[in-house]
Amino acid sequence: MAKQPMLKFVKVERAMPDKRDASARKEDFQEIYSEYAKAKAQEQSSRCSQCGVPYCQSHCPLHNNIPDWLRLTAEGRLKEAYEVSQATNTFPEICGRICPQDRLCEGNCVIEQSGHGTVTIGAVEKYITDRAWEEGWVEAIKPHVERPESVGIIGAGPGGLAAADVLRRQGIQVTVYDRYDRAGGLLTYGIPGFKLEKPIVMRRNEQLAAGGVTFRLNCTVGVDISFQEIRDTHDAVIIATGVYKTRDLQGPGSGAKGIVRAIDFLTASNRKSFGDAVPEFDSGELNASGKKIVVIGGGDTAMDCVRTAIRQGATSVKCLYRRDRSNMPGSQREVQNAEEEGVIFEWLTAPKGFKGDRVTGVIAERMRLGMPDATGRQSPEVIEGSDYFEEADIVIKALGFEPEDLPTLWDQPELGVTRWGTVKAEFTTGATDMPGVYAVGDIVRGASLVVWAIRDGRDCANAILEQMNGAAVIAAE
Ligand SMILES: Cc1cc2nc3c(=O)[nH]c(=O)nc-3n(C[C@H](O)[C@H](O)[C@H](O)COP(=O)(O)OP(=O)(O)OC[C@H]3O[C@@H](n4cnc5c(N)ncnc54)[C@H](O)[C@@H]3O)c2cc1C
Ligand code: SF4
Repeated sequence: MAKQPMLKFVKVERAMPDKRDASARKEDFQEIYSEYAKAKAQEQSSRCSQCGVPYCQSHCPLHNNIPDWLRLTAEGRLKEAYEVSQATNTFPEICGRICPQDRLCEGNCVIEQSGHGTVTIGAVEKYITDRAWEEGWVEAIKPHVERPESVGIIGAGPGGLAAADVLRRQGIQVTVYDRYDRAGGLLTYGIPGFKLEKPIVMRRNEQLAAGGVTFRLNCTVGVDISFQEIRDTHDAVIIATGVYKTRDLQGPGSGAKGIVRAIDFLTASNRKSFGDAVPEFDSGELNASGKKIVVIGGGDTAMDCVRTAIRQGATSVKCLYRRDRSNMPGSQREVQNAEEEGVIFEWLTAPKGFKGDRVTGVIAERMRLGMPDATGRQSPEVIEGSDYFEEADIVIKALGFEPEDLPTLWDQPELGVTRWGTVKAEFTTGATDMPGVYAVGDIVRGASLVVWAIRDGRDCANAILEQMNGAAVIAAE
């Protein structure tokens, strides 16, 4: 009988791929985790207990068939593992790198609950798909038939691209419109290279183009082309524009020069990594080199800013967050990485005002956590008389994002929005109030996660196909 390759969690300890030393990694924008060697990936996969009710799978937004691809990896059947993994996930190597696994699949791993340390699901998912790319198993789309129907997708982020992939596989003519010069959305210009190296995203864009997806880049809908024109051109339209309006700081001096938006700071840095001309970076406006940096916020965007500033050569980097460490929205893994790289966190601290026409620093005040609010989270309260001055040459606001007002920007008053300004859409299909118009990703959920945008894109594309197939049958009758 073949030897049981699984259930090794008692004997084999959890081991992530090696992490580069902080002193080396803060010198560049390369990813910080190295790749598993084949034997290590097999060994770590073999820790899975193959439990009857896989909570990892139910807590993965894509319901990835995790136990199966872990078993196939443990057995050395890598191509089959890849086939199973890619059947439910459009970009497994991207999710393997940047999903907050501690809150999703790994956070619900049964052996973690029994104190043995979770299976390293994300690292194995990345390993499988990186090998698939190396071996040439990831092929450009070749639809069996070309169909006449067309879909216009506004926004080339993970939501739009996941929908493009599903539709194109069925032979639908797909055009993706994006205001940027490169596809990928926040994968390309928001998330820094040390979490997701850019060639990983670019090769996906190239594969989609090779598979027949048409990209119309440098094309801002509402400026270079009207929404109505796109609607008139295609049988269906998907809005996948994400959320980009920055929540603002309050208080005296909050309009000073040198107080910048996180998205501008990160985009400039990512563009620089591509070798683009970035005047705001070269002028020092969006460059932390030789400067004292204060980042305000406690989410993943704030973590990306502090770690980018360290790599640019800031003399000091501080993060001010109004709650404490255990109540921050960002991932604990990223806080630890940032601390290792030299970032100082000022917990329970909030800005009260700013000094200088060109900012010289933040008047900060200390907070304590009070009574829980309606959501159950403890509300921060100011400790009177606790003001102090935090010097800064650049202050980066990373307080989160809100949706732009699409009905006004696109002159489409009938496009329904929620009271938060997100586009009103059915969660399972993405259908909006307007016939033939769908919406997916952050513009529906508010600032969320890549894996949820992929899920939405896939669900929406399948709903459109169902609709189109129904219409094709009726037309033929
Ligand atoms: C700094 C940062 C770090 C993050 N880190 C993580 C992480 O580690 N893990 C994770 O899971 N999630 C992370 N996220 C969240 C994740 O990036 C988003 O949830 C995800 O990208 C949303 O996908 P989307 O397709 O809805 O939108 P986006 O990725 O925002 O893409 C929207 C696209 O629409 C285009 N667009 C917008 N308006 C127009 C218009 N009028 N005309 C034409 N094109 C338009 C934009 O140019 C963009 O390319 C991070 C977000 C930020 C900001
Ligand atoms: S997609 Fe994300 S949540 Fe799902 S298995 Fe992969 S890493 Fe885990």
